[in-house]
Amino acid sequence: MAVVEESFKSISPAEFFYKNKEIAGFSNPARALYQTIRELVENSLDATENHGILPTVKVSIRELDVVPEGAYYEVVVEDNGVGIPPKYVPQAFAQLLFSSKYVLRQSRGMFGLGAKMAVLYAQITTGYPAEVIVAPIKSKHIYSFKLKIDIRENKPVILNFTTTSNILGKHGTTVRLITLGDWARSKQRIYEYIKRTAIIAPYAEILFRDPDSNYLLFERTIDKLPPPARETLPHPHGVDIETMKSILKSLADRPILESLVESFQGIGVMTAQRILAEAGIKQEKKSGELTDPEVEALVRVMRSFKDIKPPRADHLSYLGEEIIVAGLKKAFEPEFATAITRKPSVFEGHAFIVEVGIAYGGKVPVVEKPLVLRYANKIPLLYDEGSDVVFKVLDEKKGIDFKVYEIEFPSPLVILTHICSTKIPYRGVGKEAVADIPEIEEEVESALREALRELRSYILKKRKELEEIEKAVAIAKYIPEIANSLSKMYKVDPQEISVKLLELLNSRLKSFKIPSLSSVVV
Ligand code: ADP
Ligand code: MG
Repeated sequence: MAVVEESFKSISPAEFFYKNKEIAGFSNPARALYQTIRELVENSLDATENHGILPTVKVSIRELDVVPEGAYYEVVVEDNGVGIPPKYVPQAFAQLLFSSKYVLRQSRGMFGLGAKMAVLYAQITTGYPAEVIVAPIKSKHIYSFKLKIDIRENKPVILNFTTTSNILGKHGTTVRLITLGDWARSKQRIYEYIKRTAIIAPYAEILFRDPDSNYLLFERTIDKLPPPARETLPHPHGVDIETMKSILKSLADRPILESLVESFQGIGVMTAQRILAEAGIKQEKKSGELTDPEVEALVRVMRSFKDIKPPRADHLSYLGEEIIVAGLKKAFEPEFATAITRKPSVFEGHAFIVEVGIAYGGKVPVVEKPLVLRYANKIPLLYDEGSDVVFKVLDEKKGIDFKVYEIEFPSPLVILTHICSTKIPYRGVGKEAVADIPEIEEEVESALREALRELRSYILKKRKELEEIEKAVAIAKYIPEIANSLSKMYKVDPQEISVKLLELLNSRLKSFKIPSLSSVVV
């Protein structure tokens, strides 16, 4: 048998994602249109709120030509963010794995892929380049680019570049793509995505124009932004050999003691001395001179060193109860809404915060199972529900029993969950589901139970009120009869007795903070 020799070659990241688009959520025209909107909107929100700007984001989708697989759409997303320095625009939009977010800071983006995948998909399906217009803050100029990706080399190709003067002093970014999509099949998801984004970001103004020329405006209902996310140093419990080596390389001439203190959270001089002693390394040794076994020993000691403060969470950008409740009220006009922001917790050396909101009654849809709005780093997660950590907590058999909280389905109940961290353990780069890390699961459950307890108190209080009202109404029916009999016995005006009896009933209702009966009965 003739042996066919294998041929070997390496491919660029652009070529890899060109061949494996579905990994990043671009599996078919419908999903791709949804993912395109998502990635661009998320970049816009990162570019605004992370920099203290109240976001105004305009999204437009127009149908151009119908083709057998769907249609060509013009997608435009415009924001009032910080813009991008022009020298970085080509790489930011046309070189895969190029990002300003490869730092330890909470943001929606984290893979350096989103914008490029949208550009790549547009390019390979319609052949059109991406147009990017940027006005960095305080820039005297507005810069426009037409870009394509050289897929083989993973390099940007600039087809056109123009500069105009920024007379109005605007700032922000506009991205325009012509891409293959399928509006009919993605309409529902895209609307859902935008609505859910508006819920979690009531401080944003979002205008959406769909291909059927419908306009949807989500107004800003609160002027408060979440605390800005700040960059942080790695925590010793999460360090690995590669990270350690690159830190040591960048500080090669410095004594190892100083490198540790400077490069990690929670390590002061004393702690560094103890760690080095335990790893058998001299504290004066130059960082660049550590041998491989020494680096390994150091990492092992650091990962399990007990006497270190847990990772800092003050750099995380959680929403807080006020914003969550404002978002839920805006979307559902519920009878009752509450939110819980848990204290920071830790998994694998990363701090994270879980938040849960609950809306009940009012215009909340009545559902057979709780309606769950999942978010991670303020991104709505719509696909792959079943594999998400939140659904493990809600598992019908093993999860939370809602009856304990006086909730019997069907019930008008919506639950919002938000996990924020510098590292969200997504199940894939399409960012749709969070893995079931035990520490996260525990926090989600605790937060949910805490919020449900508040709901139960509300439900019980309301039930008690209802009972009291029913009782009072039942008694009130007999007032005229009683008043009549009494008036005959004591020769008093029956009207006077009725008024007295009603007063008695109302004073009891008042003790439950229920409005007086005359107004209840109307
Ligand atoms: P990621 O968001 O994961 O970093 P992207 O490919 O989506 O990856 O974006 C790459 C980079 O381009 C971002 O890190 C950011 O610096 C920049 N960028 C993209 N969109 C915008 C925008 N609307 N405003 C400002 N900067 C942007
Ligand atoms: Mg992004």
